[in-house]
Amino acid sequence: MHVNVLFPINSEAFTYIVPEELKSRIKIGSRVEVPFKRSYKTGIVIDLDRSTYSASVKKRQGKLGRNITLKPVTSLLEEEPFLSAHLIRLIKWVAQYYMSTTGLALKNAVPSAFFTGKKAGRSRIMYDEEINRTKTVRLTGDQKKALSVINSEKKGVFLVHGVTGSGKTEIYMRAISALPDVKKAIVLVPEIAITAQMIDRFHTRFGEEVVFFHSGLSTGERITQWLRIRNGEVRVVIGVRSAVFAPFMDIGLIIIDEEQEASYKQFEGLRYSARDVALARAKLENFKIILGSATPSLEAYHAAKTGTFHYIKIDKRIESKPLPDVEIIDMTKETRDTFTLSAKLVDALRENVHDHKQSLIMLNRRGYSPYFLCTACGYIHKCPLCSISLIYHKDTNTLNCHYCGSWLDPGPLCPQCGGKEITYLGAGTQRVEEDLKRLIPELSFKRMDRDTTQKKLSHFRIVRQMEEKKIDLLLGTQMVSKGHDFPDVTISAVISADTALNLPDFRSAERAFQLFTQLAGRAGRGEFPGKAYIQTYEPDHYVFDYVRLHDCRGFYETEIEQRKELNYPPFSKLVRIILGFRTKENAKRITSGISARIRTGKHKNIEVLGPSPAPVEKIRNLWRWHLILKGKNAKELRRKACEIAAMLELVKDIKIDIDVDPINLL
Ligand code: ADP
Ligand code: ZN
Repeated sequence: MHVNVLFPINSEAFTYIVPEELKSRIKIGSRVEVPFKRSYKTGIVIDLDRSTYSASVKKRQGKLGRNITLKPVTSLLEEEPFLSAHLIRLIKWVAQYYMSTTGLALKNAVPSAFFTGKKAGRSRIMYDEEINRTKTVRLTGDQKKALSVINSEKKGVFLVHGVTGSGKTEIYMRAISALPDVKKAIVLVPEIAITAQMIDRFHTRFGEEVVFFHSGLSTGERITQWLRIRNGEVRVVIGVRSAVFAPFMDIGLIIIDEEQEASYKQFEGLRYSARDVALARAKLENFKIILGSATPSLEAYHAAKTGTFHYIKIDKRIESKPLPDVEIIDMTKETRDTFTLSAKLVDALRENVHDHKQSLIMLNRRGYSPYFLCTACGYIHKCPLCSISLIYHKDTNTLNCHYCGSWLDPGPLCPQCGGKEITYLGAGTQRVEEDLKRLIPELSFKRMDRDTTQKKLSHFRIVRQMEEKKIDLLLGTQMVSKGHDFPDVTISAVISADTALNLPDFRSAERAFQLFTQLAGRAGRGEFPGKAYIQTYEPDHYVFDYVRLHDCRGFYETEIEQRKELNYPPFSKLVRIILGFRTKENAKRITSGISARIRTGKHKNIEVLGPSPAPVEKIRNLWRWHLILKGKNAKELRRKACEIAAMLELVKDIKIDIDVDPINLL
């Protein structure tokens, strides 16, 4: 008897012989120790089989032309299987669907500590015990209706498309409470930073039965929580992306809040989408899914409209509070005393402080200024490793690359002409911070972006200060734009809409619409009506027509027509193959050599675009070109991508990275 053992490394499983005394005890999902190279390794048994060998054995056998001797399993680490057969099936599915390896999928699904022999530790409580907002609410008619639809089914996908402030969190909690006792639930959230309040609410409702699972946990904490989940000691897990692999044995429901969020997709390594993995898991394990959003992804909206998902629409805010007025500020005409803020917005913010109301403002770029420009010769600092201009950070006085993390000391002189006339063009959150301090000195506010929330729990503290009204205003990147429920926020503002509108990507209008609508939705959730301001140099952009009127349907219908015409998702599926080269010349020469070959294979029903240079041409010193495959049938598409990848593997000096269902094409 032999077994295939999987390790959390970028590889498929390895085959081992099972010694006599373990034959009746080893099962699928068992954790075992086995000899590997010159040492030992911990892995998971994923196939118990008397006939099939792993790919690696087959390959070696093929090369040697005879049977090879397999090594025996050294020991079984515990009697009960460590992973459920369900979870192993999911891991295999993920590897196959995303054209990656089963080992890499395992690595993403299970904390690495279980393979290195670390011990469980005490877990820290993330919430603040003093704050207790047990508010028993009477459900609104809309909430009741939504729940009666959701509760009447055991499986299926429910898109809850409810405007901002329509009480979606309450629906989530009640849907979990309505599950039979043995059934568990996972709540996926896009980022920790926007989840502080939701965790509070869940904790108030479910007490010790809910755990919060995220990448900020220490190793010991992760082990403890993971085991509690697996052993069924908790009922609800809230977590980011990887929580979709929570090892519950019997799931009744997965909720995906802000389903459209890009952060559900992993950008490197195993490029999986937690949303889509959740949908697949629901099919494999037979449970239901709630997708919740005020601004669903176009794909989800379309699936709901065409009957693949159940569609639950909520048009009214709780207590019929009005949605905020949206004013588009034309920056080409506006007077202003600073680079970042129009006089109109400054006046509104100032007035708000005096009225003891709060405000939220967003600029989706951290740092001080994105262009450090010499006005004498036009030199702009670029990252030496990436084809991206460096962002000036004033607090550290550095020029930082937001792609690769490297930084430079700017120095007082232009490196090209030696001149001293350096100006900053464009703005990041640090610059807005400086302007606000100068223009409204009485304003007390905090900046919330990745630079100010590096420390564990720091975003919880900032959010709490806002909740307790210790500050008047929160300034930040898209971290401030969604999720939060601050009743006294009456103004929300976008400092600059233009970058979002003009990304070279087919989803840029959709993203911009979602971002602006979400941000606007933070205002006017309490007693007083809200107002949203959007500053832009392109006030006539069609996206604003819909944002102004809160017209989701209108926007989606227009956008769907365009996608249909261009045959983009949801009307097709995409696979993107990113090719990496060491030099620009190599990139050109090699791609022109393979271009014809890529096209010769037969690919009925599949459109192959490229190879062409990627919009971001270089990252970490790798020159990037890409190929985009478009087709209706996912399987066919993957087959074609495999074929091309296999061909490319034979080409020298090329690095291949495959992205199934890419969410941007940059
Ligand atoms: P959404 O997620 O849809 O933006 P939330 O779930 O944050 O909205 O709800 C908005 C506010 O309304 C929250 O403060 C919440 O506590 C409150 N709320 C939710 N349901 C009810 C209800 N049935 N009655 C009164 N208040 C409610
Ligand atoms: Zn860089």
